[in-house]
Amino acid sequence: MLHAGFAKGNAALLNRIDNKFAWLDDDTKRQLLNRWVYYDVETVYPTHLFPALVAISIFIVTSYIVLLKRTVKQKTRALQTANDMLQDQAITDSLTLLRNRRYFYQHLYDLDKTRGDIALMVFDIDDFKAFNDGFGHAHGDEVLCFVAKTATILLPKDAIIARIGGEEFAILQYFSSAEGALAQARVLCEEIARQSLALFNHASKPVTISLGVAYYPNGMPHSEIIDADKAMYQAKKQGKNCTVLHVL
Ligand code: GH3
Ligand code: MG
Ligand code: MG
Repeated sequence: MLHAGFAKGNAALLNRIDNKFAWLDDDTKRQLLNRWVYYDVETVYPTHLFPALVAISIFIVTSYIVLLKRTVKQKTRALQTANDMLQDQAITDSLTLLRNRRYFYQHLYDLDKTRGDIALMVFDIDDFKAFNDGFGHAHGDEVLCFVAKTATILLPKDAIIARIGGEEFAILQYFSSAEGALAQARVLCEEIARQSLALFNHASKPVTISLGVAYYPNGMPHSEIIDADKAMYQAKKQGKNCTVLHVL
């Protein structure tokens, strides 16, 4: 509907205009409406739009959290694996894969020194430099691996063996008697020499070791390898390829 508006009390004018309005056809009235009348435009949203938006937002946030959690879990696992690997590398000799000096000394430090039946052995490959010089450094490495592997196979599972220097190894093992420790030491010397002859071509020269055993029947008074080291040097002095036992 289209109505004209006037100031109050001018009914005659209103009447005249109303009459003239009546003459206007529908098109003209529509043109007038479009030209002069302002509409309030109200946007009506579907009722389910807001819950849908909330649901989508919750879904996106939940998916993000799940994805984040999974990624954190994967990264944590990868870090854990890397950490385990690094920890293992820190106590392993990379050439022979035996425990290294760091591990051996730590183990010795943590050991229950009150136990009175422990044997500490130190052995060194005799004339090892000759293998390096005569057959090359890579062959020297092979000899080191052979000695490490042979000793490991000969020792019981609870013995701790480590490479503590270039061609120097150490063993910690419990024995009920010094004789038992000495017998084991002799087996190590003999077997390493015997098996090396079958494996390497060193012009009939076997790989031999000099081995020192320190046996502590009343517990270890310190965390050093010094006693076994002295026994080993005595074995070197005695002409190598032999074992020397010190009971302390
Ligand atoms: P001895 O009978 O008195 O023990 O004499 P030796 O020749 O065994 O001892 P020496 O100390 O003269 O030589 C040891 C050599 O071991 C010297 C060094 O170059 C070598 N060496 C140390 N570590 C390694 C290694 O990881 N690989 C190889 N191939 N050689 C090594
Ligand atoms: Mg040597
Ligand atoms: Mg040496």
